[in-house]
Amino acid sequence: MNQLQALFGGTFDPIHYGHLKPVEALANLISLSRVIIMPNNVPPHRAQPEASSQQRKKMIELAIADKPLFTLDERELRRDTPSYTAQTLKEWREEQGATCPLAFIIGQDSLLTFPSWHHYETILDNCHLIVCRRPGYPLTMEREEQQLWLEAHLTTNAEDLHVLPAGRIYLAETPWFNISATLIRERLEHGEKCDDLLPEPVMAYINEQGLYH
Ligand code: ATP
Repeated sequence: MNQLQALFGGTFDPIHYGHLKPVEALANLISLSRVIIMPNNVPPHRAQPEASSQQRKKMIELAIADKPLFTLDERELRRDTPSYTAQTLKEWREEQGATCPLAFIIGQDSLLTFPSWHHYETILDNCHLIVCRRPGYPLTMEREEQQLWLEAHLTTNAEDLHVLPAGRIYLAETPWFNISATLIRERLEHGEKCDDLLPEPVMAYINEQGLYH
């Protein structure tokens, strides 16, 4: 049987423990052996990351060097067009074949904005959604029809993620980490320490490159 594979997308400006620790806990909770981190290429009309694509990529490599659970996928970074998650997940499904179980991991904040994503309704055709907890965000959707959409896809049985190829939303009981890349950038700008918020080699690289100062 094909093993469940999961993609974890984001800007990672910079990658931090709020990304890594919930996903490591998730992997233990639902027996996930492979998570592919996929940094996005931020389209020109959106607020640009402070770190370049190469710097964001390097920080991810440093963060996962001693963590075999994670690998890095550079496909969105290599593009010079906007990366739509729906399109990327469609391509990933085509590569992997119709039957293998695939999942996209997001934090709770992303679930709330999910219905505004480009072609969001096609995403569950190609993968499951696994939602990690994040402090400060409700677990119910803002609008009633969005809540109905969520409930129509929800499962509390992690086994579904392994046996079905796509189509379920799973709210994982991962630990809460009150960390964001915004918080880290602001703290560094004010000369405050962030040692407990991200891996040491990433912090060393930020200092060496003079990022976020
Ligand atoms: P920023 O503060 O710059 O908006 P961020 O810290 O939210 O960044 P992103 O790279 O935008 O990080 O997030 C990538 C993914 O990781 C998103 O799905 C987001 O919900 C999730 N995520 C980020 N931080 C946390 C956290 N502390 N707990 C759970 N999920 C998180």
